[in-house]
Amino acid sequence: MRTTPLESWIVDRTGILERSREKLEAYQLVRIREMINHAKKNSIYYKEKLKDLHEDDIKTLKDLQRLPFTFPRDISCNPFDFLCVPQHEVKRIVTLNTSGTTGDGKRIFFTEEDLNLTVDFFKFGMSCLTDNKDRVLVLLPGSSYGSIGDLLQKALSMSKTECVVHGVLTDTEEVAKCIEEKDINCIVGIPLQILYLSRAKRELFKRRIKKVLLSTDYVPSILVQELARYGCSVFTHYGMTEMGYGGGVECEALNGYHMREGDLYFEIVHPDTGKAVENGQYGEVVFTTLNRQAMPLIRYRTGDIASFSSKACSCGTFLNTMNKVLGRLNNRVVLQENQFLYLRELDEIVLSFEEVMDYKASMDTNENLVLELAVQDKEVFRRIEGKAARRIKEALQYKLGYEPEIKVLFNGEGKPTQITNSMIKRKIYDHRKG
Ligand SMILES: [Zn+2]
Repeated sequence: MRTTPLESWIVDRTGILERSREKLEAYQLVRIREMINHAKKNSIYYKEKLKDLHEDDIKTLKDLQRLPFTFPRDISCNPFDFLCVPQHEVKRIVTLNTSGTTGDGKRIFFTEEDLNLTVDFFKFGMSCLTDNKDRVLVLLPGSSYGSIGDLLQKALSMSKTECVVHGVLTDTEEVAKCIEEKDINCIVGIPLQILYLSRAKRELFKRRIKKVLLSTDYVPSILVQELARYGCSVFTHYGMTEMGYGGGVECEALNGYHMREGDLYFEIVHPDTGKAVENGQYGEVVFTTLNRQAMPLIRYRTGDIASFSSKACSCGTFLNTMNKVLGRLNNRVVLQENQFLYLRELDEIVLSFEEVMDYKASMDTNENLVLELAVQDKEVFRRIEGKAARRIKEALQYKLGYEPEIKVLFNGEGKPTQITNSMIKRKIYDHRKG
């Protein structure tokens, strides 16, 4: 097995010369101290937030734990307070959905140099799964300058790998035609969109697609297993816009991500106490940018749940391994005291029916769980209706200790539904009072 290509990249880029954790952490500490100075000097937010911090207060990486967290709502309230460069140096602004918050909306700023760092990460990240003999289809937004698709295309063209940036999936026929015409063998896309495509175009997928990179949302294991049965290698990537899109990517061991440790410093903390958790224990992912110019972030709370692996990766790297992200912390509904239903649990149950192309989950005003299943046609729906509802009930009863009432509704005519068809993070809709 090949050691993750991220390792050589990080060693070269950071100039640490040696493949060792100690050297890498020493580099991270220097960069964190410089980044704090940059942020304190140039951002209104950090100038105030860190006004009592002195340069000597951060002597080790552990000392960083004494600094306050930055929360997404801090950015939504006053995004411009985070800006550290003159506005004419900002080459890309991303406005993110911030339902339920007030203020200006969450905006993330990047300079040209910030974007180039991501291109560099994508170049090496993609080399975990592709080389210049591959033909890659990107089912992510790519029409604007500095968008994720645009940066991926730049990265792949640097390594002379053919790449078609299509944008998100809206029409399976059109994408199927593109796969045939361009002889595509690798797809980068959103998990539920890839699931939709692979189920709508099963034979084509089996025949053509040998590699897949899933990104931007929770990856159901059921999808990984299904694509593996088609003979497809499934890699996952973890990242978010605030990280500069890219955060970490799996190596050939396919057992968790190696992180972009030359640009980002990661911690995992208990979501309630904010204290660091032991390796192997789950908690909330927190990161600090090491090289970001336009908008450095210090101890940013991602809301994503993951753990660091306590074992060395079988690829032999000295880099950390983060176990697959379990989804978002708030991606759940309360059923009763201390009992939660997570979207990821529903994914594994509902999507285990290969007839289901997509679904939407909500709690209605009467505390019933309502599942709207999207299937190819009404006949398929009638065939699985009783069976699906029964199996889903059984699985949930096992978890809950009582049988929830489930309504299964037919939705869709073989076209991607609104949920699958967007970049919006999926969730369980809660229509209950209070
Ligand atoms: Zn590895």
